[in-house]
Amino acid sequence: MSENTLKPGVVTGKGYKALVDAAKSGGYALPAVNVVGTNSMNAVMEAAAKAGSDIIIQLSNSGAAFFAGAGMPDGFKAKVIGAVAAAQHAHLLAEHYGICVAMHTDHANRELIPWVEAMLDEGEKYYEQHGKPLYSSHMLDLSADPIDFNLGECARLLERMAKLDMSLEIELGVTGGEEDGMGSEFEEHADNSRLYTQPQDVLQAFDLLNPIGHFSVAASFGNVHGVYKPGNVKLRPEILKNSQDLVQKTHGTGHNPLHLVFHGGSGSEKAKIAEAVRYGVFKMNIDTDTQFAFSEPVGEYVNANQRAFRFQIDPDDGTPYKKQYDPRKYLRAGEQGIVKRLQEACEDLGSKGRSIARA
Ligand SMILES: [Zn+2]
Repeated sequence: MSENTLKPGVVTGKGYKALVDAAKSGGYALPAVNVVGTNSMNAVMEAAAKAGSDIIIQLSNSGAAFFAGAGMPDGFKAKVIGAVAAAQHAHLLAEHYGICVAMHTDHANRELIPWVEAMLDEGEKYYEQHGKPLYSSHMLDLSADPIDFNLGECARLLERMAKLDMSLEIELGVTGGEEDGMGSEFEEHADNSRLYTQPQDVLQAFDLLNPIGHFSVAASFGNVHGVYKPGNVKLRPEILKNSQDLVQKTHGTGHNPLHLVFHGGSGSEKAKIAEAVRYGVFKMNIDTDTQFAFSEPVGEYVNANQRAFRFQIDPDDGTPYKKQYDPRKYLRAGEQGIVKRLQEACEDLGSKGRSIARA
């Protein structure tokens, strides 16, 4: 048992730092699962409670918009208000699941900087009322831009976030593949050297951001968003070790000074995941796998109850189908799919049974 324990619920500020440190010193990482509504969010908290693991819940900009409602006329507003609604849902419910939940937002590229700024406007209002931030961390992915622009914007926004006890996740180097309609097309035969983050860039980020506030780094070590045929890009976790070593040597810090994040983790080899965790990865994003984990049992349910999805009452024999077409039936099947898949994820990442929440 860790000596640092936290009250169950959404953790921010010092609590979030303790959660990150507990994972790194305990040699495990937390699953960071993308959600799009209360169904997936509750399923993720249920999964974490069942696994005895703390958990990171995150929303992409389109996930946040969907949370607010896909029919909301002002799409930009939906991205902001949906993110607020999701965080409030977590602040209200998470403690009742008995585990610690960190709330993150996911990839925001250059066009989405205004989204992050608008969420910070809301976060400042929330902080004034509650004395804590709405989100544990936001993410900026300006890895497609020149590094000076990337880090300059990260510094500017981290200044604002540090005042709210928030952390910032940044991205260096290009992670291949597509996530939620973002990210570059993955070219099978292209020169993939740019898929590996340079330790020098990581050091530059540390030099600039560490004096400002708490931050984490998604570095590319051959990881690819989405699920692709294995063998196209080689995962090279030693890239992460090289970055840790350079920062440690330059600044005389302790072991693994950087808080690292593994993007594009769906479908990765278990040995490579374990190696990445040894090099200071505390968070692994899981999106694609849980999407399928939700949809597969829903598909099975629909297949097994086809007539209930065509008729309220069977025209041939008068069978009433109310019990079968009740949306709770198939939504629950999807939730259970997420709960099951995340048990495996918690085991792979070593977070099972390691929750630091104590009531
Ligand atoms: Zn990424």
